[in-house]
Amino acid sequence: MTYVSRRRVVESDVCIVGSGISAAMVADKLARERSATIVVVEAGDDVPPLDRRPALRQRFLDYDENPWPNDHLEGYEIEGPLQSRSMCVGGLAMHWGGVTPRFSPEDFKLKSLYGVGTDWPISYDDLEPHYVEAERVLGVAGEPGPPALDPRSKPFPMPMLPLTYNLELLKAWVTKAGITMWSQPSAKNSIPYGGRAPCCRNDTCTPICPIGAKYSPDFTWNALRRDKRVDLHTRTIVRRLDVDDRGRIVRAVAVRRGAPNVEVEYRAKVFVVAGGYVWSSHLLLASRSVSLPNGVANSSGLVGKYLCGHRNVQAFVRLPMKLYPGINEQHSLVTKQFMRVPPRADGKYLRHDLRVWESASGQAPRLRDDSGALLLGDEILRDWRKRTEHGVARVRAYYDVIPDRASELTLDDARKNALGDPLPKLAFRDAPESAALKEWSEETIGALLRDMARAGDGAVVRTQSDEFQDHPAGGCRMGNDPGSSVTDSWGRTHDHENLFVVGAPTCVSASCANATLTFCALALRSAVEIARAFPAVRGSVLAPREELLDPD
Ligand SMILES: Cc1cc2nc3c(=O)[nH]c(=O)nc-3n(C[C@H](O)[C@H](O)[C@H](O)COP(=O)(O)OP(=O)(O)OC[C@H]3O[C@@H](n4cnc5c(N)ncnc54)[C@H](O)[C@@H]3O)c2cc1C
Ligand code: SF4
Repeated sequence: MTYVSRRRVVESDVCIVGSGISAAMVADKLARERSATIVVVEAGDDVPPLDRRPALRQRFLDYDENPWPNDHLEGYEIEGPLQSRSMCVGGLAMHWGGVTPRFSPEDFKLKSLYGVGTDWPISYDDLEPHYVEAERVLGVAGEPGPPALDPRSKPFPMPMLPLTYNLELLKAWVTKAGITMWSQPSAKNSIPYGGRAPCCRNDTCTPICPIGAKYSPDFTWNALRRDKRVDLHTRTIVRRLDVDDRGRIVRAVAVRRGAPNVEVEYRAKVFVVAGGYVWSSHLLLASRSVSLPNGVANSSGLVGKYLCGHRNVQAFVRLPMKLYPGINEQHSLVTKQFMRVPPRADGKYLRHDLRVWESASGQAPRLRDDSGALLLGDEILRDWRKRTEHGVARVRAYYDVIPDRASELTLDDARKNALGDPLPKLAFRDAPESAALKEWSEETIGALLRDMARAGDGAVVRTQSDEFQDHPAGGCRMGNDPGSSVTDSWGRTHDHENLFVVGAPTCVSASCANATLTFCALALRSAVEIARAFPAVRGSVLAPREELLDPD
């Protein structure tokens, strides 16, 4: 129990909870296009600035020191599969890989096309202009795939990251296997863009890109804070949203970390919850009260339900080709050939993406041979040369998982944070149609990977399936019917006219590809609706985005 000794009031037009990549999209668009005061409230700390990152990388190399020591909150260990503990300015995307494919048109109408899951209230075409905008804001380098597989109305803002020698060889192999692949789009600069340097493709992205060639949300926040277009309050946890008699959100009640007795009351015309797939539903549920015992925005009972993601099957394939592992190993080839499939005659449902990377698996020098015998002197070199005459490819397919209603986030009354508030508990569960097909799906993908290996006169050396559902989303799914969804297609909650939830939580399903570009496109679409409440900017407050992003 926390005793409140003082209260501070902060007023604005828009109050955004969270400062992850979805929040950055909303704030950036509103700040550029509307005359509105914007306050952003972030539980975590500021991250190290760009000019310190080369030194932090050096200390990581010299002393194995973590360059991001303050990127999470102590005491927030929760039950269930958490994607990352990161809670900081910029959120999880401070550590992301920057891989940015779009969903495919089928993703938005799984029920009508395949009879599984639920259709979204929007189509791919509705989201397409916002994909274009998201690619421009983040700065995505990409190669358009064939239009039939990868429909898009505008070119990528940057040319693709060049394919390495290894990827060129691997592309020839997959082509022989009858699969059309192209360069996976990435939010990494292939040319100078947004005032940031081009990626030098040395593959040193983990744990920290020393030059800022990969987009991260801190760059957007730095620009908005520098131009005084947002007020970003760090180290401040929003504990609940209060609702008045008319159903409007009147305040977000928060405390600053380290000063739990001082309550901060955020008042705003519009509240935007941008806390990602975990903390958005958590805040709505934690805002339960006598009049709303199930929490805020929860008349449907669906807040926290239908958490979604995708699982994967991965194989390592030994191929008779000379690869040189370590040449920008994070870059891959991708195809949507298996996402854009017609319904099957046997009524079974399977959609997946497919990616191919070079791999160093089994290619490192070693001191013992397969039998465990010690290798000495020239034997080490001979063994290494022999084993690297062949190349190894990593092939991975994310496949669709249809979420069950009971795939859920609930309040865990057994685990509380230092303020005494219950933490969330996560449990991912497949809908019956996915549970029934899991084994068959993984076997079918495994067979495809073996066929691919054979087409290149190679062999699969190892296959594994991962239980973790990657790129998690959902919890506040969108829909037209207030009885079966939490928000409308714009992210506006059905129950509270001035409350929006943006990005990942609003997803109906999670597709079978990296999803953050879609979260950004959805957030930018929400910003269009939020903006309607405020007058357009007269004259230029900020440099036009194009100019800011591409100073040349
Ligand atoms: C290692 C790694 C690699 C990844 N690589 C990729 C990739 O290559 N491609 C891809 O598509 N995706 C990738 N992802 C996923 C991607 O990073 C996330 O999907 C994305 O960053 C989620 O952004 P978000 O805005 O939804 O939420 P978050 O990043 O979770 O941001 C939410 C923020 O809100 C704050 N917050 C929440 N609740 C409150 C509250 N009550 N009060 C105050 N603040 C609050 C949190 O502290 C947090 O900072 C990766 C993730 C990880 C961890
Ligand atoms: S390869 Fe290097 S420059 Fe490119 S994103 Fe990774 S760390 Fe940054």
